[in-house]
Order: sequence, then C-alpha cells, then structure tokens
Amino acid sequence: MYDLKIVGGTLVDGTGKDRYPGDVGIKDGKIVAVGKCDESAAETFDADGAIVAPGFVDIHTHYDGQISWDEELAPSSIHGVTTCAMGSCGVGFAPVRPTDHAKLIELMEGVEDIPGTALSEGISWGWESFPEYMDVLDRMPHTIDFLAHVPHDALRVYIHLVVPLSFLQTGYIAIRDRDSIDWGLLLKRVLPLMLLGMGFAFFLLTKVGGPWLGLAFGIMVLLLSARDLYQLRFATAGLEKPISRPASAAAMFGAGVVHGIYASGGPMLVYAIGREGLPKKVFRSTLSMVWILLNVILVTRFMLAGDYDQEVVLDVLLLVPAVPLGTVLGEWVHHKVDERTFKLAVLALLMAAAISLIVRYSAQLL
Ligand SMILES: [Zn+2]
Repeated sequence: MYDLKIVGGTLVDGTGKDRYPGDVGIKDGKIVAVGKCDESAAETFDADGAIVAPGFVDIHTHYDGQISWDEELAPSSIHGVTTCAMGSCGVGFAPVRPTDHAKLIELMEGVEDIPGTALSEGISWGWESFPEYMDVLDRMPHTIDFLAHVPHDALRVYIHLVVPLSFLQTGYIAIRDRDSIDWGLLLKRVLPLMLLGMGFAFFLLTKVGGPWLGLAFGIMVLLLSARDLYQLRFATAGLEKPISRPASAAAMFGAGVVHGIYASGGPMLVYAIGREGLPKKVFRSTLSMVWILLNVILVTRFMLAGDYDQEVVLDVLLLVPAVPLGTVLGEWVHHKVDERTFKLAVLALLMAAAISLIVRYSAQLL
C-alpha cells in the first residue's frame, strides 16, 4: 500500500527515455514504483493530461534576499524547480556588517537589476556571518530545497580588514632593505604615474558601467598572461626584456588605473618595474614602499568612511598571525618548486581567471 499514488499522467523520467504513460507510487516520502503501480494508496492524485517529471535543479538563481521573507520561492517553485542554488554571480547578503546592508543591496541591484526598494522592504536581516545567515533561513520553512554559495562580492566588502595587514609584510621588507629603496624611481616616476592612473580610474568609475570595466579587466589579464606564457614557453633568452620609457610609463599609469578600480595593480606594476633591470633587493624594497604609500591612502579612505570601529580593529588583530604563516608557506613553496614551473602555474591560473571574468561580464552585457 502506497501513501500516495500519482495516476494517469505522462512520465518524463529524466533518463532521456521518450515520454510514456504511467503512474508513480510513493511510500515513506520516497518513490517506490514507477510505471505500473498496482497497489492501492491512502491518497490518489489524478494527473490526467499532465506531465509527471522529477523536479528541476536550477543552478543559477538570485533568491538570496527573497528567501529571507518568501516561503514559496515563486516563480521557481511554480515552474517545477525543486532545488535552487543561489549566491550566483558573486552577489548576496552574507557575510555582512549591519552598516553595510545598503551597500550589498546596491550591488545586487546594480548587477542583477533586482529593485533595491523591494530588497530594502523585504529582507529581514538579523545575521552577520554566513552560518548565521543560513540559520535564519533554516528557521523558515520553504517549498523547495536550496543551497547557498558564499558570494565573493560580499566578502570583498571586508577588504578594509585585509589592507592594514599588508603593512606587516611590506613594512618588514621596506625597513629591512631601507637602504636599497630606489627613491628616484619611486617618487619621480612610479608614484606620480600611478596616482594619475588612480585619479583617472575614479573618474572612469563614475562614467562607465561595472560590466564593461570587468570585461576590459578580463581581456587585459588574458592578453598579459598569454603573452608571458608565450615568452616563458618559447623565448630562448632574456625572459624580461627591457621596454621603452614610454611603454614603461604607460604600464605604470595602467597599474594605477587597475589599482583604482580593482585594488590589484600589482601585476602591471611588476611588469613595468621588472624590466628596469634592478637588483632583486632594490626591486622588492621599492615595490614594498609603493604599496605602503598607496595602501596608506586606501586605509585613510576606509577610516574617513568610519570602517574601523572597535570590533573591526579586533578582527584585524585576529588575522595578524595569518601573515607570517603565509610568508613561511610562500617561502617554502618558492624553494620547493622551480621558478619556471611556479610561473607557469601562476600564469595558467591567471588565464583561467581571466576567461571566467570575460565569460561572466559578456553574459551580463548580452
Ligand atoms: Zn546571475
């Protein structure tokens, strides 16, 4: 005897087989018979004229906000979706500090066109960490199953936690090798050009949409890493050929633009300075000084925005041990793996990341 029997429907069972008429028998919450179901049932559901199929799994949704106030998750549930994944495209609402609610709503509105007014009205909040978010969702019954990705845009809002930590590493190198810093290169060329680039970036941010900038960034990373990979693979001598002054100036300006928009101007700057033929010590200490100066600007901006309350300072201190740990681990890998293999791995990783960026932002623009 079944608990439930669905009769008279057309079965599309998900195996790729043609549709066929048949019944479905369910017992203790499980499907126990498909096709011919002779036993009687406590409840019988007439599916005449309907298709009977397994539920769909929707691997790309943006219910991150709606799920906190809506038990039904319509329209997905009406369309036959029985499991949805959310947190797609890197946007979502956890982890989040109470002061950043509006920021994440703006991000979701900007990326996915979900009206910010609806999100502000609807989201119940009451969480900060990701586990707390999941606990809040679990307290409410939902018509379908769901799983949540940790959205990387929400994590990036915590960048003010990480930037101060960079001083530990760069400060250590800059103090240790302070006599090697090339102040002329730093103050006369790198810093003015990078600051100019950052200023241009801030201007660009007010004019051009995020997806276009993301696409441009992806293409730039792809071209640069493909070029380096090609050189590493085929060049016979002199991996880091010197480049002309104007080309180097353009790369430093470009590094400023990238740093202004994505806070990751490192690769382009290394590309420019790496071809100056500097001794390793001068190269490292000068570069460290660049990041100290630029990150002072960033941290000042965070401070003025009120990002560092007592709790945040405590969080930063808790993260401090991660820096020497990362340094030791990095040195270890550096000695274990030869430079060429290490570079190949990094470049391959960069290319994969660039391709995923290009696909993601192209899809948004189409
Ligand atoms: Zn999406």
